[in-house]
Amino acid sequence: MTHEAKYFPVFLDLRGAAGLVVGAGKVAERKIGNLLAHGARLTVVARNFSVPVRGMAERGEVHGIHAPFRPEHLDGMDLAFAATSDPSTNRLVAGEARRRRIPVNVADVPEECTFILPAMVHGEGFTVAVSTGGKNPGAARAIREFLEERKEEIAVRFERGRRRRDARPPKGTVYIVGAGPGNPDLLTVRALGLLRGADAVIHDYLVPGEILSLASPKAARICFARRGKTSGHGSSLKQAAIHAAMARLAREGKSVVRLKSGDPLVFGRGGEEAEYLAAEGIPFDIVPGITAAAGCAAAAGIPMTHRDLSSSVTFLAGHEADGKGGTGIDWKRLPADGTIAVYMGVARAEGLARDLMEKANLPADTPVAVVENGTLCAQRVLRGRLGDLPRIVKKAGIRSPAMLFVGKTSACELSGRIDRKNIEERNDGPVAESV
Ligand code: SAH
Repeated sequence: MTHEAKYFPVFLDLRGAAGLVVGAGKVAERKIGNLLAHGARLTVVARNFSVPVRGMAERGEVHGIHAPFRPEHLDGMDLAFAATSDPSTNRLVAGEARRRRIPVNVADVPEECTFILPAMVHGEGFTVAVSTGGKNPGAARAIREFLEERKEEIAVRFERGRRRRDARPPKGTVYIVGAGPGNPDLLTVRALGLLRGADAVIHDYLVPGEILSLASPKAARICFARRGKTSGHGSSLKQAAIHAAMARLAREGKSVVRLKSGDPLVFGRGGEEAEYLAAEGIPFDIVPGITAAAGCAAAAGIPMTHRDLSSSVTFLAGHEADGKGGTGIDWKRLPADGTIAVYMGVARAEGLARDLMEKANLPADTPVAVVENGTLCAQRVLRGRLGDLPRIVKKAGIRSPAMLFVGKTSACELSGRIDRKNIEERNDGPVAESV
């Protein structure tokens, strides 16, 4: 007979139920807290009370009896818990409770229990209980941890289930999600959960297939731009098509992930899309991602701020720096001692370098770094001086996506003390300890 046949899972309404807890040490303490949170009225019997349990008794949260267990303590009880450190007392409680047909749980001794306690995962609006029939608490904990990490995904599915149940389904939600700079390891846990639970993913050309493959296999994948066509900034036609697709899918009651490279609110039109959804009355949520500047700086070992080298960091859109004026960039106000991180700057590296030297008055020997395909396998990092930037970009054939860093910090190369390959190969060890 399997354990599933032995234990019948139930969820008890404990509000107002009378519970006896025998024992008032560490193990009992956890149970007492949990039971009180579910509305049980508790009597705690023990010779010695731990400080927290004594506090609960003094505050009247539980009825405390400082005495050895006696069978009559079970009178009128709906449930009993034996959680002392003395096996014979626990056995006595279990025997007496069984005789009176009061359900009893003995901590860590499933054979003496008439009911066992599952591992629990509490999410927004749901509880998952996990049991291995008391045979393998370690596995139950592992499953609980697995579920804990996937709460977002469960929440999306839960929400979908709720929508299905409702007579008039409310509109779906659009999640405007940052996918980070491209390496799947740099997705947030929330982004991963939402991808797994998505019905549709509308993504940018910069989001690699490796990340898209993490979406639910059933999710529709929609991309409106082709690499190289727009350098990340779409035409208004394309933007209108994205808006229309988000609205249509959401109104069909779908969970839509609008997946954008980096952070959705950094040069990503995430703001415009959110404004559009708000105007249309479509619920949305914004999930941040690691922006390319942060991802590339870390990957290249460039500290964007540094007490000795840079006290500010400025994010610039390089494609606006076309050297013709009227760009919206106030060159004179760029902090002289900061780091400038330029997005979409490759194609206009020459005009950009000129503007930085002539208008922002940066010396030609200001350090620069170019990070192409940052965080990805194909990453390349080149360093040099501002006056040389156009030549560096041209000579190496740098192509989008690339970040340009300008400022003293760009010369830094914080070299890792760890070999990444090694980490991946030994990923069962306590890697973090050596970092
Ligand atoms: N929202 C994004 C930026 C979109 S604009 C973010 O927060 O990162 C697109 C520009 O981002 C590219 O032209 C490039 O400058 C930069 N970029 C994105 N991914 C990159 C990567 N993996 N390596 C280098 N630059 C990247």
